[in-house]
Amino acid sequence: MIIKIKNNATQEQINELKKHLVNKGFEIHESFGKSTTIIGVIGDTTTIDPNSLYAYEYVDTVLRVQEAFKKVNRKFKPDDTIVDVAGIKIGGKNIVVIGGPCAVESNQQIQEITPLVIEAGAKILRGGAYKPRTSPYSFQGLEQEGLEILSQAKQKYNIPVVSEIMSVDDIDLFVKHVDLIQVGARNMQNFALLKELGKINKPILLKRGIANTIEEWLMSAEYILAGGNTNVILCERGIRTFESSTRNTLDLSSIPVIKKLSHLPIIVDPSHAAGRWEYIESLSLASIAAGADGLIVEVHQTPETALSDGQQSLKPEKFKTLVAKCKRVAEAIDRTLE
Ligand code: PEP
Ligand code: MN
Repeated sequence: MIIKIKNNATQEQINELKKHLVNKGFEIHESFGKSTTIIGVIGDTTTIDPNSLYAYEYVDTVLRVQEAFKKVNRKFKPDDTIVDVAGIKIGGKNIVVIGGPCAVESNQQIQEITPLVIEAGAKILRGGAYKPRTSPYSFQGLEQEGLEILSQAKQKYNIPVVSEIMSVDDIDLFVKHVDLIQVGARNMQNFALLKELGKINKPILLKRGIANTIEEWLMSAEYILAGGNTNVILCERGIRTFESSTRNTLDLSSIPVIKKLSHLPIIVDPSHAAGRWEYIESLSLASIAAGADGLIVEVHQTPETALSDGQQSLKPEKFKTLVAKCKRVAEAIDRTLE
């Protein structure tokens, strides 16, 4: 970190700042120019908020030369992380497709859809049991019963399951029933939840917040890794922009940016990005081409009567076509989708 000191600062003031930093365990490297003094701060500066240094009246500019995140940083771990979700590996050469309904609606629904998504090529089944709905009057999910339904499908069809957690109080229930715990966009900065998820070793699917930067997203992942859980998969699901033709704007550029900054795998959710089933195929193919490690797609037998997000859910046969096309893109970029 580099701190530029204002020209009118006294030596006494500079010494005060140096003392503050030395007390925090940093080494200081001072450089005096004709009119400017620069202080180089050496050590693990991830523990300092650069903005807090502007409280010193004589600090002119603070520049980070290293990212604020450490454990998720590719500089810290150059090799790609491969997360094992009950035997399904996410990251590395292989591309994994996750499919299933937005919400678990009934046991019958899950019993019907599971073999269909497996047949189409999905390796993990999705299904929300606790639904973060904008309206309190919309279907809120089957909660514990929904997790139990997923768990039964997992046993019967031998497929790992993913579902979204909304509260710290439900962690034990999720650890018992699901293989991959999803933190939804709305909870990306629920730091109390992230801290608790850092203490377990179940894989976590961390979705990007609706209006969060890539750095904020990586800082949220850092919370989980800092707690000791290194099994984190990132999920780009679109961000809110001025564009209203789609539900969100899929930030495809986050894929190469994440690949550069972090070793964590990244998958894409084209359903919540697009908000319309017609756009899912195109966004999925583009995501694979851009380097995503997988997809999570909403699939429903009868989207017309779905209790949530039917408008952005593919019918099983369309999902099957989508996976077949994704396979071809994967092969074209020397990756595999089995
Ligand atoms: C979901 O996956 O069901 C969901 C609610 O997604 P997001 O958190 O991305 O909105
Ligand atoms: Mn949904």
